[in-house]
Amino acid sequence: MGYFCLKCGEIYKENIKNTQIQYNKNNNIEDWIFCPKLKCIGQVIEVDDMFLPIIRLLNNKGYYTEHCCSGHVGTDTYDSYISFDKTIQGLLLIPEGYIEEKDNNKYCIRRNYSDKLNDIDFHLELLNNAIETLNWAKELKNIKPLQLEKLIST
Ligand SMILES: [Zn+2]
Repeated sequence: MGYFCLKCGEIYKENIKNTQIQYNKNNNIEDWIFCPKLKCIGQVIEVDDMFLPIIRLLNNKGYYTEHCCSGHVGTDTYDSYISFDKTIQGLLLIPEGYIEEKDNNKYCIRRNYSDKLNDIDFHLELLNNAIETLNWAKELKNIKPLQLEKLIST
């Protein structure tokens, strides 16, 4: 697993988990890892290594994400997905092979794989998918300044 700060983008080692605290948000206990930088204190999230640069880039461009999975060999799940924060309700362009889903008003893109692939071929599919998804994320327009303008004007 990889770790990075949603606010400043800093990447951390796994031992950042040792600073994890629990706090109460809307009566739900949530685990938070705060970025230790004094001027940041953003939320550090845990993300699959293969998707870390993708998720970091998406959040940096204003496509705030909620959960994701790069897919894993040796489990019974044959998909990769990225679900977004409620501010993202759709995308003009999605990476090839993905489908769009809406669950509980949350927008998600998912790519399903055949469960008939052997482990090596499945791993190759996941690696190729990570490259294609990263290239897609690189092409996306930065929407962060627009959101800032919107916030300022309201
Ligand atoms: Zn930070």
